[in-house]
Amino acid sequence: MKTYLKRENFGLVIFDLDGTLYPGEVYKKPYLDFAVSYLTENPDFHQADVTELKKEYASGSSVTAAMHGMGISKHKWNKIRDNGFDITKCLVPDAAFKKRVLKLCGRIRTAVLTNNTRKNSEKILTKLGFAVSDFSLIRTSDDLNHTKPSREAFMAVADHLNVPYDEILSIGDRFENDIAPVLHLGGSGVLVCGPGDLIKLVDGDLLTVDGKSAI
Ligand SMILES: [Mg+2]
Repeated sequence: MKTYLKRENFGLVIFDLDGTLYPGEVYKKPYLDFAVSYLTENPDFHQADVTELKKEYASGSSVTAAMHGMGISKHKWNKIRDNGFDITKCLVPDAAFKKRVLKLCGRIRTAVLTNNTRKNSEKILTKLGFAVSDFSLIRTSDDLNHTKPSREAFMAVADHLNVPYDEILSIGDRFENDIAPVLHLGGSGVLVCGPGDLIKLVDGDLLTVDGKSAI
């Protein structure tokens, strides 16, 4: 876990979903396998495309971005993903984790910002035991013109909730996607390795700047 805190008080916590609100290992390999199967079974694509996808994913790029580079629009990929990839059966609700997230939700405005689809995101949150109404706002790749790592994705969330950009605290598992855009906007971030780190963050008073609790 690494913290990038620039101020003492925040107005909004923006959570990433995949790899942050549930463990990334549940998701990463099955999702990459699904994308590889799609390319392999589709005669429009070749082995070189599979190699390129794996290379981009390993370098931190998203599958959506890699597919876009191969001429598959975000809308089309979201539809393919919604119809063919469901990880909710692999998810196990974690009561201790949920308690910590809801503690943050009770103290401050919270949003979920994800490049996942709306349908999948709501299914995942439900399986994890959350209600959509637990968060002030949920924005997915179906709802936004710009997805992460575009800083416009974060600006759209903050604008909707009327929060200045420097009051954003972004919590996510990928620096390029979840942390860097917010730091560019003057906000703060915490890079986590998954739900375990978020529990430590809430319990350990790690959201402290100059000895004062930031939330
Ligand atoms: Mg993530």
